[in-house]
Amino acid sequence: MTTAQDLDVTPTPLALLLLGRAADPASERGVDCPGDLPAPSDPGLVERARAARERLGEKAFVLGHHYQRDEVIQFADVTGDSFKLAQQAAARPEAEYIVFCGVHFMAESADILTSDAQAVVLPDLAAGCSMADMATAEQVAECWDVLTEAGVADVTVPVSYMNSSADIKAFTGRHGGTICTSSNARRALDWAFAQRAGGSGKVLFLPDQHLGRNTAIRDLGLAPGDCVVYNPHRPNGGLTAEQLRAAKMILWRGHCSVHGRFSLDSVDEVRARIPGVNVLVHPECKHEVVAAADQVGSTEHIIRALDAAPAGSKWAVGTELNLVRRLAKQHPDKEIVFLDRTVCFCSTMNRIDLPHLVWALESLADGKVVNRIEVDKETEHFAKLALERMLALP
Ligand code: SF4
Repeated sequence: MTTAQDLDVTPTPLALLLLGRAADPASERGVDCPGDLPAPSDPGLVERARAARERLGEKAFVLGHHYQRDEVIQFADVTGDSFKLAQQAAARPEAEYIVFCGVHFMAESADILTSDAQAVVLPDLAAGCSMADMATAEQVAECWDVLTEAGVADVTVPVSYMNSSADIKAFTGRHGGTICTSSNARRALDWAFAQRAGGSGKVLFLPDQHLGRNTAIRDLGLAPGDCVVYNPHRPNGGLTAEQLRAAKMILWRGHCSVHGRFSLDSVDEVRARIPGVNVLVHPECKHEVVAAADQVGSTEHIIRALDAAPAGSKWAVGTELNLVRRLAKQHPDKEIVFLDRTVCFCSTMNRIDLPHLVWALESLADGKVVNRIEVDKETEHFAKLALERMLALP
């Protein structure tokens, strides 16, 4: 490949920026989170959202995931992680409309857990999740065929992270597996391994390889060599039958585009910059980042840890930026910074903005159901089975 050195030219800062080899502090809000996001362009939007919310009253229940923008989260009746929100929706049978400010797989889970009479609405249908999209139903069915060919499907129990599509949850239910969250992944793996007597069992962990690996190594004491990664884009997942037979954890090659970008360099850099800082990260981060952190835990764990932290303590947090900024604002007596200088917001979570929320609320207030998320009956049945196994975990 011809490089700039070969051509004896000095790249301009703009050229480097376009090549991704330089940073532009003016455009990267993740750098140090200065100031507030600009107000929505239409100053009447907040008032319109309030008016529509009032017109809807008890008929609607608005859920807000922790990673949502401030302009949206202010209208949430309850905030939480994906599972807590789905449970909250199920606990409100009187609400005709569940407005889910989060991403597509979360709205699907809410639809699975609520009654047919309730409509789950996602204000912007483009709010997907790149991790959930990394495992399609066809790819996972093909993977199961590969495991069957290798003679290991009978001893394999699927465990799927909550952050997966309804189709993947249904696959999991159909094959005797369970769903897990980042809070109960250890219990889910213990349960899955106990399903096959004599220690011969394996787990197919979908779709987040990092949560699967971190839980297997940190919590269950498995060796890195006990884990293999199934790559859906390669023939037979890029694995031989012998590798599949020898493995205990078969990790799907998926990751979160936000948490997967934190690196060991981010940890080293923040420790050098802020002496005495506690590094607190989400288990969707890479294993080397998790291994170098002081604390690891789910979104709810991160919130509780910072609530309980003493005044004056210093924290570098490796999770989505909207949440870190909000926590920093809520705890002015503690120094709370974002772990990395370049990682930004979750772009799909951020698709739910005030204009979309206003449109959804006003439409519902006028009696028009928009952007309804509905899971078909068969998928719902098997996905619910997997979710119920999670709820029954010891
Ligand atoms: S933060 Fe990661 S896992 Fe969560 S919605 Fe965004 S891409 Fe998906």
